[in-house]
Amino acid sequence: MTVGKIVIQQDRCKGCTLCSTVCPQHVIFMAEHDLNARGYHPAQYLDPDHNCTGCAVCAVICPDVCITVYRETPAPKRAKLTEGVLSL
Ligand code: SF4
Ligand code: SF4
Repeated sequence: MTVGKIVIQQDRCKGCTLCSTVCPQHVIFMAEHDLNARGYHPAQYLDPDHNCTGCAVCAVICPDVCITVYRETPAPKRAKLTEGVLSL
């Protein structure tokens, strides 16, 4: 399974909430108290259980291009030849 993570450039965020609304894994939240350099409550990425899949929906919808998505796809298992039997 692909594991993802995002980085939000919080000082560019205008607090529109679109990314937090569309994230299917519910790992983006709006800051309730903190303000960024532009005076908005910015989006925050909180994913302690690593549920982000790297789907990139948040990055696509962000009108200010604040979100960068990183994906890690595990290497495929190598086939092993054991006593003439091919096993994965
Ligand atoms: S990449 Fe997908 S799962 Fe990860 S934070 Fe963005 S919308 Fe949510
Ligand atoms: S979509 Fe972009 S501008 Fe809107 S809250 Fe999310 S990071 Fe901020």
